Amino acid sequence: MENENFMTWLDQMKLSHPLLIAGPCSAESEEQVLEVAHELKKTDATVFRAGVWKPRTRPGSFEGQGTKALPWLQKVKKETGLLTAVEVGNAQHAKLALEFDIDILWIGARTTVNPFTVQEIADALKGTDKVVLVKNPINPDLELWIGAIERLYTSGIKNIGAIHRGFSTFRKTKYRNIPNWQIPIDLKIKYPTLPIINDPSHICGEREGIFDVAQTALDLKFDGLMIETHCHPDQAWSDAKQQITPQRLVEITENLRVRRETFEQEESLVKLQALRKEIDALDAQLLETLSSRMQVVENIGLVKKQGNVAILQNTRWNEILQKVVDGGISHGLNKEFIENVFKSIHQESIAHQKKIIDA
Ligand code: PEP
Ligand code: MN
Repeated sequence: MENENFMTWLDQMKLSHPLLIAGPCSAESEEQVLEVAHELKKTDATVFRAGVWKPRTRPGSFEGQGTKALPWLQKVKKETGLLTAVEVGNAQHAKLALEFDIDILWIGARTTVNPFTVQEIADALKGTDKVVLVKNPINPDLELWIGAIERLYTSGIKNIGAIHRGFSTFRKTKYRNIPNWQIPIDLKIKYPTLPIINDPSHICGEREGIFDVAQTALDLKFDGLMIETHCHPDQAWSDAKQQITPQRLVEITENLRVRRETFEQEESLVKLQALRKEIDALDAQLLETLSSRMQVVENIGLVKKQGNVAILQNTRWNEILQKVVDGGISHGLNKEFIENVFKSIHQESIAHQKKIIDA
């Protein structure tokens, strides 16, 4: 697989800008699909996306219009010339997508995690010259992502690409799915010709952050973007909060900067930017942890106030200091550095408790 040139299908599109895939989260009605497709003709979009079979977290939500929506996509292609793309979640979907001549099929994040299903889809698509894109699995597991791509490749599918849509986390973050940029970067380093498309819509989960995530993706030399677009986003039947209008899509693409570098520079730039993103994410995590610690400290302050107990308990503080110094050393951190950091944290904790006790 390492020697394959996966870029061919994208090169053949002869685009002067990164590939733009746009369209609603779900195909809701023929009118809705055609309305947004005609608006997208005024944008840089080359490919029209719409979910027909929707994987929903809980039953009872809108699960897609199913097969009856496939002719609507054919109509999109006929009327606008846009290529069409749908998510396929099982072998039956894959066969139907081929039957209705959909141009690009993508495997969703919830499907990529399941090797049995991916294999069934790969078997159903055996030897197809359609483009098949693989979204990252919902959990941050590069091997599982590569595994799904390998299953397609082994089925004789050569027009492959990857979509980075972020990863689930139990932590509360500003993202719906955290980007973990290092994972798509590692995929790109392993398969330099594999087109990687960023999906800022599913990373952000809301409209606000889409531009920044898309710009980061372009800074990291991603090959394209998939952005959920709807003429009336607030009324969308799925993912309403993250969909944008075609007009907003134009504004976003007009403001995005596409970086150009020579290859050697590009590679180190990509690495540097990925590492900086990692630092930013870790700093944000540190701040969250510090703020959670202060919250607990204030609760302790309340308990001490009720029991009329002094703030400073020397034995407890010495225990903490010893424990963190030992822990720090075993993590390869400098003793003095740990002492300084924790003394400063302790001082701030005392200030927080004092505020509670004196109130
Ligand atoms: C989608 O593209 O609408 C979708 C369901 O995405 P994901 O598989 O990334 O959750
Ligand atoms: Mn969606």
